[in-house]
Amino acid sequence: PIEASSMMDFDEYENEMAETEAVLVSVRVRPPNPVELRSDAGSVWTIPEHDPHLLKLAKGTEGTREDRDWIFDRILPPHSDNGKVYGTSARRHVRSAMEGYNAVIFAYGQTASGKTHTLSGSSMEPGIIPLAISDLFSQIRSTPDREFLLRASYLELYNETIIDLLATVPGAELHLSEGKKGVVINGLTEVAVRSEADVKKLLRSGEDRRKVGATDWNARSSRSHCVFRITIESRSRNPAIEEAPVGARTPGGRLKAAGDKMTRISTLSIIDLAGSEKHTSSKERNAEGKHINQSLLTLKLVISKLADLASKRNVTHVPYRDSKLTRLLQNSLSGDALISVICTVSPSSLNLAESISTLAFAQGLKRVVLKAQKKEVVDPHALIQQYQNEIAELRAQLRE
Ligand code: ADP
Ligand code: MG
Repeated sequence: PIEASSMMDFDEYENEMAETEAVLVSVRVRPPNPVELRSDAGSVWTIPEHDPHLLKLAKGTEGTREDRDWIFDRILPPHSDNGKVYGTSARRHVRSAMEGYNAVIFAYGQTASGKTHTLSGSSMEPGIIPLAISDLFSQIRSTPDREFLLRASYLELYNETIIDLLATVPGAELHLSEGKKGVVINGLTEVAVRSEADVKKLLRSGEDRRKVGATDWNARSSRSHCVFRITIESRSRNPAIEEAPVGARTPGGRLKAAGDKMTRISTLSIIDLAGSEKHTSSKERNAEGKHINQSLLTLKLVISKLADLASKRNVTHVPYRDSKLTRLLQNSLSGDALISVICTVSPSSLNLAESISTLAFAQGLKRVVLKAQKKEVVDPHALIQQYQNEIAELRAQLRE
């Protein structure tokens, strides 16, 4: 394990031209589940063959006045599998993360709408996390001119408490602090990973940790947010290429030395959000209600403020600081990452109200504009350098 705080303090030296782009918003409609099949409620959403961006409420749907069409970047119909979802809504973000952009992919929707199916999937149908991992490693294999260091972290956010799912001591609670480069999770475990198998092992042990810590697993899994993050460092193997420009300075302030290279450092975060439904039972509200959706509520508020900002409305305050989730995402949401959001909905009229509320959130996201930048630093202390020194030392010892 590596302490995260050791690598969070870089000065960025050079950023590529910022590109402005919108959040990629996808809506995935899952197939009906057995309960929905047994009821004769039927599917309320129609996705016209000719238009992959259009979602229509079936004619004659009762209980709503929302008869307008919904337009999103991607509509994923019930028959689309995780491979398809990866291709349309995640691959570009994963590849960009490899090139030095921060990227965030998150799943939003009511409980049982398919968030975990989409992100984690099953052994039969791997989700976006395992597909991203395998894509990353295959991209690394086909990029022989660069060297890479990948580190993984995995945390759960429950009742405004951050739990490190990879800590050697289980259940360790982590705290946030604000550094020069934004919010840092103090002491978060990051594990260097060298293969898909490494990552899958970590994910499994993290999942087991979550389950052990939960007295009521179903309730907990629907109320907690899970953040899986891969930090990617890379630099050219060719000493002549991508040398830091003359005049560049290291974080310590010294001028670049001959041979200092630019290191790209970026993160790919994949977030399985808590269920978006309103918790109405008073028992739940009393027990945990003060916190249950503090993070989700604040996320919604932040998104709507950002949307207002983008449409040049007068916004005085974006309440990032009001929840752990928005503090964690502050850098990304305030424009330093590429973001893809996959909103999951049930097909059934039984869940119509929640589905519409999910789509309304998704519409707000469409209005947010981001300016992602490539992260490149001159840093002789980048972990990739430290690893290399260790390897060189080990080799030398072997030769002795
Ligand atoms: P959530 O994480 O949003 O609470 P889940 O991903 O756990 O929901 O999905 C609830 C159930 O529905 C699971 O049994 C899951 O396998 C199934 N499911 C969800 N989406 C799909 C889908 N697109 N295709 C097949 N089964 C799905
Ligand atoms: Mg889930």
